[in-house]
Amino acid sequence: MRKLVVLTLIAFGFCSCYAQENSLAISLQNDSIVIASLYKSALTSSGGYDNLRELTSKAPHRLAGSEGCANGIKILFNQLKALNPDTVYLQPAMALPWLRGEKEVVYIELPKGKRILLHASALGGSVGTGLKGLAAEVVEVKSFEELKALGEANVKGKIVFYNLAMDPALFNPGEGYGRAAFQRTAGASEAAKYGAIATLVRSLTNRIDTFPHTGVMRYADTTNMIPSVAISTFDAELLSTRLKSDPTQRVFIRTTCKSLPAVVSYNVIAELKGGEKPEEIITIGGHLDSWDLGEGAHDDGVGCMHAMEVIRLFKQNGIQPKRTIRVVLFLDEETHQVGAKAYAASVKDKGEKIYVGIESDSGGGAPKGFGMSASPAQMESFRQLMGILAPYDLYQLRNGGGGVDVGFLKPLGVPTMNVLPSPHRYFYYHHSAFDTFKEIDMREVQLGCAAHAALVYLIDKYDTLGS
Ligand SMILES: [Zn+2]
Repeated sequence: MRKLVVLTLIAFGFCSCYAQENSLAISLQNDSIVIASLYKSALTSSGGYDNLRELTSKAPHRLAGSEGCANGIKILFNQLKALNPDTVYLQPAMALPWLRGEKEVVYIELPKGKRILLHASALGGSVGTGLKGLAAEVVEVKSFEELKALGEANVKGKIVFYNLAMDPALFNPGEGYGRAAFQRTAGASEAAKYGAIATLVRSLTNRIDTFPHTGVMRYADTTNMIPSVAISTFDAELLSTRLKSDPTQRVFIRTTCKSLPAVVSYNVIAELKGGEKPEEIITIGGHLDSWDLGEGAHDDGVGCMHAMEVIRLFKQNGIQPKRTIRVVLFLDEETHQVGAKAYAASVKDKGEKIYVGIESDSGGGAPKGFGMSASPAQMESFRQLMGILAPYDLYQLRNGGGGVDVGFLKPLGVPTMNVLPSPHRYFYYHHSAFDTFKEIDMREVQLGCAAHAALVYLIDKYDTLGS
């Protein structure tokens, strides 16, 4: 008798498991029709592309707290309104503006008053040299260890030139960027310890060109702040070659950049209310600020469009999400993340339940998969849904995902995700004058919008990240 009961239970368990798998398969079959429809809508609409053109042409330089940023906020607010979500509003945050000032002048001094001009841009947050500029011999290093070995005896009174290239052997250029970024973010204070008077930093890009790439730097010691300037990779190679034959080469630097008092600015937020669980919120966003050299098209106007178009695509396809979709266009990812901090603080204060934080901040390349910072069970649950996305080239599932802004939600226990675009050309544009609308491909934008909509649709429907 006991044997019969056990056998019955095993058979029942098997059947119920089989039935569950079968119903998932049938459901996914239906979903493949919905996802095909989302892709069709995205690939036949230029909405996101047109909005990006408007943003980048009317508000190309959007450093937090600047006039360009304020214009960008107005444009994005109106674009979101036009998508007709349930609500659009501004969330205040105090921006800490930094002003580049006059065009930087940087050159290698040659005999008889001649010079070789270098393509240079001050790093965000740097102090200026003063109107007269400064000139000194240059000492080249590729690491803080090399700098330490040279010591004060070889560094004092000189310009330290950081020349570590992004490693081309790494498949993901983002990893090369991560390994080389220390020279930009922390190089000035480290060099100042040994008496350097300024730093030149090789631009963080994985090709040789004449675009200087700016980016944020920070002073560890605010009592000893020295100017820090990026030079193009072409110029870094040139300077390095010349230093090998003549280590007494001198470089002149003149920058007039400075930090300004804090001003009120805003995150721009829109919501599409959920049908079944409106109190659970899917946060999806990009950052509305950009560096001041290009138009902030890849970084990160296109990320804003990816998030915004989810609203259009859901509405166009008559999809009612279970949870509330909240599009957050974050202020100030590039320097102090004041927008992301204000958003996370508000979520915490209100005790809101954020189901997931999704961020697009890796450019407008064709999507290849997903990054995910979540529990192994949540990742496995999502992996089971991914087969349905294979026809759209979305194969990869990387452990680790999200973005700088939604990263502030992690301490609240929120899983974070991002769509992974092809990474190989992103650093050509990143933080440089090359980051323009002209370098945006409409079809890749459309594919990015569709991938974000498909992601939100699936994780909402299947409760992938919890109940
Ligand atoms: Zn960015």
